Amino acid sequence: MEIEAMYQQLGVSRPVYEYGESVLRDLRERFEEIDRVAEYNQGKVLAAMQHNRVNATHFAATTGYGYDDAGRDNLEKVYADVFHTEAALVRPQITCGTHALTVALSANLLPGDELLSPVGAPYDTLEEVIGIRPSTCSLKEYGVTYAQADLKEDGSFDYDAIRSKINERTKLITIQRSKGYATRPSFSVQQIGELIAFCKGIKPDVKVMVDNCYGEFVEPIEPSDVGADMVVGSLIKNPGGGLAPIGGYICGTRECVERCAYRLSAPGLGQEVGANLGLMPAFYQGLFLSPTVTSGALKGAVFAANIYEKLGFACVPSASEDRHDIIQAVTLGSPEGMVAFCQGIQAAAPVDSYVTPEPWAMPGYDTDVIMAAGAFVQGSSIELSADGPIREPYAVYFQGGLTWYHAKLGILMSLQKMVEAGLVQLP
Ligand SMILES: *Cc1c(COP(=O)(O)O)cnc(C)c1O
Repeated sequence: MEIEAMYQQLGVSRPVYEYGESVLRDLRERFEEIDRVAEYNQGKVLAAMQHNRVNATHFAATTGYGYDDAGRDNLEKVYADVFHTEAALVRPQITCGTHALTVALSANLLPGDELLSPVGAPYDTLEEVIGIRPSTCSLKEYGVTYAQADLKEDGSFDYDAIRSKINERTKLITIQRSKGYATRPSFSVQQIGELIAFCKGIKPDVKVMVDNCYGEFVEPIEPSDVGADMVVGSLIKNPGGGLAPIGGYICGTRECVERCAYRLSAPGLGQEVGANLGLMPAFYQGLFLSPTVTSGALKGAVFAANIYEKLGFACVPSASEDRHDIIQAVTLGSPEGMVAFCQGIQAAAPVDSYVTPEPWAMPGYDTDVIMAAGAFVQGSSIELSADGPIREPYAVYFQGGLTWYHAKLGILMSLQKMVEAGLVQLP
């Protein structure tokens, strides 16, 4: 079998391929551990589907108001079982992760309340949602204030600062599991549990929302297993398994999720309306595939860190660190490095492989962003993609891959483009 010839046909030179194989040789144990977590989570998803007696009637399309939509209602029960929560809201009407987070925040914060982030600045798009950057219809406009406790220099929680920020108006605490576009560490579910316990120790009735984007199925437990009142994410990331073409989820306590449903549709309507538009097969099957898809993406992230760290580029997480999400930050140190890396990812794609990514002013971000994605679902970042804001320290955030083999090719192609641009020398 001429695998090497196949890679050459795809554009990967022999030295790049051989360097990749030498890196892979040391990763067998890491990959076995990733497979064990995937196996566990596959069982968790299967058990939830069996328990809720998923059958073909649940795949039927509904239109219009969507009253009595059995497939949608049952999918929400499946999600609630997977995340071990009382309730779930899983809808194509939730347009993206930012929308899901906006619904969760605005449903559970009233004028005069304060939102606290104990983990430093939130994801870029939430700055406008919260009103950190002035924005029409932000929480700030509705009289919700915001407080933030930054992480310590070493990326750990600053418990003294957090204690000092919790006051009688603190209603909701938002914890972002994944680093997003920052070079801080992502948090383990256990760390998040410790933080939640600390905050609830100070204020027992405070609600905690975890931005779970990119974290689903990376570990055997989820933040909802360690005290989060709501976990929130996007279906065009991990839990959609690459098949969901749109959507978001909010799993949590009945009280919080009901409020989210009233906010998403209308007071009095809540979860009763919202046609599924024929998306149920993709939502169910995507969730079914998600544990293995996530494991492929994780292998890609570990491979990328090991490839680039050995070549002298700073990686977060580092080559040997435990993983808490599927994102790999690689600090390339220059705009040219970011462009070459992204061009390699693009060239490896099944869709749009012939286009050349360039930096652009993407809505919701305050600097130019470069993105490489050749995805079946536009903007899907569980599919192989790389992106990053063109600013210091010139880091790309690499994620996804519906299969490990595609992730591998993408990383090898990114290295190929770096080598061709004279930005790196192989050992
Ligand atoms: C992707 C992401 C979001 C926002 O999701 P969109 O679907 O892009 O709106 C929020 N938080 C984190 C940590 C994310 O990774």
